[in-house]
Amino acid sequence: MNASTSVSNTSITRRLEFDAGHRIPNHDGQCKHLHGHRYAIEITLSGEILTHPGKADDGMVLDFGDIKRLASKNLVDIWDHAFLVAENDLVVVNFLKTIPDHKTVLLDRVPTVENLAYLAFTILKPIFSDAFGDRLYLSLIRLYETPNCWADYSGAVFNS
Ligand SMILES: [Zn+2]
Repeated sequence: MNASTSVSNTSITRRLEFDAGHRIPNHDGQCKHLHGHRYAIEITLSGEILTHPGKADDGMVLDFGDIKRLASKNLVDIWDHAFLVAENDLVVVNFLKTIPDHKTVLLDRVPTVENLAYLAFTILKPIFSDAFGDRLYLSLIRLYETPNCWADYSGAVFNS
């Protein structure tokens, strides 16, 4: 990047929705029961606006269709209509194994919305960097468990 080039940092967000079941095994309220949510995930990418006169992506950070395609294939289609379960929640893991062809996603942590946002970010971050290099980056995952409850994850914070 030479000194005469200005760098803009613009963020774009694609929202996708999916249905999934979960439970929080040690919750002291309703969340310990098997139940589901209509989750909404907002995937935010940041980078420079492309200057490609005459090309389809002129004036874009990235085509929204590319975000949908990569996020669906690598995350949303896998979690949609699945039961998201902590691998150490053995009573549920073992129960789900008794259902033929059940769509179960084993997680290394309890499926709170905070942990799911973290996991979604961890899965998708390298997908976008492998596809687009350093011209853009996954800057935020916002995951709604309900319309009024959500978690944001934007990567590790390094101490300086
Ligand atoms: Zn829940």
